Amino acid sequence: MICTLCGREVKDLIEGVCTECFKKRRSLFEIPQVVKIIRCPKCGSYFFRGNWEEIEYEEALLRCVKENISVFSELENEEIEVEIREITEGRTKIIVRLSGVLKGEEVEEEKLTEIRISKMQCEMCSRISGGYYEGVIQIRAEGRRAEEEEVRDVVETIYSLVERAAEKRDKKAFITKIERRKDGTNVYLGSKKLGKQICKKLVEEYGGSFTEAPELVGRENGAEKYRVTYSFRLPRFKKGDVIELWNRVFVVLSRKRGYKCLDLESGEEIICSEESIERAKYISSVSSAPKTVVTYVRGDEMEVLHPISYSPIILQRPSFVDERTKEIRVIVHSDRIYPLPEWF
Ligand SMILES: [Zn+2]
Ligand SMILES: [Zn+2]
Repeated sequence: MICTLCGREVKDLIEGVCTECFKKRRSLFEIPQVVKIIRCPKCGSYFFRGNWEEIEYEEALLRCVKENISVFSELENEEIEVEIREITEGRTKIIVRLSGVLKGEEVEEEKLTEIRISKMQCEMCSRISGGYYEGVIQIRAEGRRAEEEEVRDVVETIYSLVERAAEKRDKKAFITKIERRKDGTNVYLGSKKLGKQICKKLVEEYGGSFTEAPELVGRENGAEKYRVTYSFRLPRFKKGDVIELWNRVFVVLSRKRGYKCLDLESGEEIICSEESIERAKYISSVSSAPKTVVTYVRGDEMEVLHPISYSPIILQRPSFVDERTKEIRVIVHSDRIYPLPEWF
């Protein structure tokens, strides 16, 4: 076939001319000189076709170009590349490079364009900054004050659960605020549904229980709008607490599905139900137990020095103590001494 412009003989013609002449006359693609992109100034996500997406700037540029480019329809195997030339406040000059195959011939073309960033707060950020919340988790402890360290740990767990939900594109997965009050810490959440899921996980992880109290706060599009307060209660006792129950002294080993307790006199491990533990009395914690010397271990008997008076005291040997034990930590309670296992 003969090109009507240059007269060359070629295999294929496009619009009556050869590829060479076609490229001189026409562009392979069109893109506006200025293209707008919407970015949330708070979290940096980009708005595309009704959705907010958390992507890198380079990826956003490419997405933006792909949505605004029109490519000559006969081009095959098209590939679009974006190269940043210059970034100034709110503007980025880029080179758009298009390559592909036209009638069996590899072709490439470049064009300069400018991306302008418009700022708009995304749905999630405007909710957060507006103080929006649907659920509150109150962190408390059953029959005692929750300790600082415990609360910090629970808050961290809540954070990671919220993060995990946000990764699964839950738009309401955010923490509005954390309030530390005299009676405990409250965590405000964007989603009440998530609040409940989190409380279930907290009970799985820490034991204890939670209650929920919904409150009608108004109407939205005709539907009643509720906020829910979840009161999560850490269990009465924690690992390492020494307690008295049924005239026996136990140390709490764990608290999943009831309390696993170790009898400090016999060394026997038992599981206590939540109901029976309610009658238990707190004595102390293993963390404050003093160390003392074991003078001898013989059969079912052992002798230790009283950690305060240093007088020798003969005790029944619990199963967790053996002949090799030379030093031991003890609990002193109502004139009696209770040895603690070494591994505690
Ligand atoms: Zn030609
Ligand atoms: Zn945002």
